[in-house]
Amino acid sequence: MNVQNEQLNTDWLKAIRENLGDSVSIKNVGIVGGGSINDARKVETSHGTFFAKINEEKEYPGMFEAEARGLDFLLEHSDFQIPKPIGTGVSDEIQWILMEYIDHASKKPDFWEKFGVKLAKMHRSTHEKFGFESDNYIGNLPQYNSYKTTWAEFFAENRIAPQLKMAKDQGYASDQMVKLLEKVISRSDKYFPVEPPAAIHGDLWTGNFATNKMGEATIFDPSAYFGHREMDIAMSKLFGGFDAKFYDAYNEEYPLEKGWEERLQIADLYPLLAHLNIFGGTYAYQIMTLLRKHV
Ligand code: ADP
Repeated sequence: MNVQNEQLNTDWLKAIRENLGDSVSIKNVGIVGGGSINDARKVETSHGTFFAKINEEKEYPGMFEAEARGLDFLLEHSDFQIPKPIGTGVSDEIQWILMEYIDHASKKPDFWEKFGVKLAKMHRSTHEKFGFESDNYIGNLPQYNSYKTTWAEFFAENRIAPQLKMAKDQGYASDQMVKLLEKVISRSDKYFPVEPPAAIHGDLWTGNFATNKMGEATIFDPSAYFGHREMDIAMSKLFGGFDAKFYDAYNEEYPLEKGWEERLQIADLYPLLAHLNIFGGTYAYQIMTLLRKHV
């Protein structure tokens, strides 16, 4: 579908055109569906095709600078094809990000194996601490990334505690949920094997990968940081859509410690709490079932 012609003159598109350079003319702008938060556009120009996302700056300040830093992080630490960020900006209260456009095709037969191996290799990329150079977003919620020496401390202070506070402030957390989550926070060294910080995508659900022209996986829309790699594995399993071959290949390349499948339930607490805080009370039941069973 094409955006109506007058939209070719929006301030954000003018800013994008300036960013691309004077000699570039925009030929067509099409709507891309499938995103969960932002409006997405395919921008066809005299100098190639680009992918843009826009939203209201006052609602999500700094969101696209954070996304660009995340994409650069994935480019630096992995062999995946990652859309290269080109620019970000704010124009008339609309913020935008422009990046390389990734063409889609169908999966090659070894799609899942290669995907698993590439993710495992990315997870081997390490750092002396858990965290990231700046905070970013998980969905449309702030995600805190101050550096910590241990994963237990990072998970408790930067992942569970802020989500618990948000849930309490919004009236989504029952007394029992508060009690059990406080237990997770105080015993956070009990749940994960001690491993080096890993370069992770941070929001690796089925909506955040696609098949590129070579028939291989491309990953995008990151909430990246150096974290525990089981966070990516947990996220991939939580909403399904990843083939068993992906996990087999991953485990061959960089085996997960014994008992990983049961442990993922604790890692799931973070995306589930984020869902509770974004979408509301319907996630409380799933969270309570998990907490009663595992904490
Ligand atoms: P949101 O931030 O709103 O969740 P996404 O980053 O997930 O948006 O992008 C929305 C959709 O656009 C994705 O589902 C994907 O199919 C497509 N997409 C994302 N990045 C690119 C890209 N660089 N090139 C082409 N299509 C893309």
